[in-house]
Amino acid sequence: MARVKMAAGNWKMNNGVKAAVEFVSQVIPAVKDSNNEVVLGVPFVCIPDVAKLCAGTNVKVAAQNMYFKDSGAYTGEVSGPMLAELGVSYVIIGHSERREYFAETDETVNLKAKAVFAHGMTPIICCGETLEQRELGIKDEWIRMQVKLALKDLTDEQVSSLVIAYEPIWAIGTGKTATSEQAQEICHLIRECVAELYNREVADAVRVLYGGSVKASNCQELFGMADIDGGLVGGASLKLDEWQAISNC
Ligand code: PEP
Repeated sequence: MARVKMAAGNWKMNNGVKAAVEFVSQVIPAVKDSNNEVVLGVPFVCIPDVAKLCAGTNVKVAAQNMYFKDSGAYTGEVSGPMLAELGVSYVIIGHSERREYFAETDETVNLKAKAVFAHGMTPIICCGETLEQRELGIKDEWIRMQVKLALKDLTDEQVSSLVIAYEPIWAIGTGKTATSEQAQEICHLIRECVAELYNREVADAVRVLYGGSVKASNCQELFGMADIDGGLVGGASLKLDEWQAISNC
């Protein structure tokens, strides 16, 4: 069965509740006929209002992080039950900014992915190499390692339903997009890694996104590549005209 493409926005630490409600109210009618799955990763504080607005529409809500414990003395963290109660569908896990600034590791990515599933949501697991790793010629090994550790002990069914976002760190927020061939090469490598770890059926089902300076002007070419099932989009998901074009790409 053909994989449904996904346009997933990642607002990062942008937009408070008022701005979010205004923006999403305009997004909903603008993407209502999209053939893609449209997802918006909004800040925690915006989730209740945005989820209410999106209920009954084709726009799904993502959180940008989640802790792997359900409750307890973890000051400042947000848990799976809290997000599930609000109607969150997806949780972005292991974004390179969380790995760089907030000590996210491959081990916590794996624990979080399991916790996301335990609460009926779906992880969008991020991976990607630095420019230095690419120049050293170790990007393939690096990505394979990240994927293997992130998926550790997940079932065939779970991996078939989850989303992996390949985001080369040198392309995030830099305006420097990977060429469609570069993006396809690694998205293909990720799918083959899943085939090795699981089987062909699981590999054909898992969705692999590209992320890194995706915009209206390049989404068509990127999303048209054989192993690219859409995009994880930062900056351009904050601009209505850009996001409308990408969502409908
Ligand atoms: C991201 O935040 O995941 C991202 C890819 O950002 P940008 O689209 O701004 O490069």
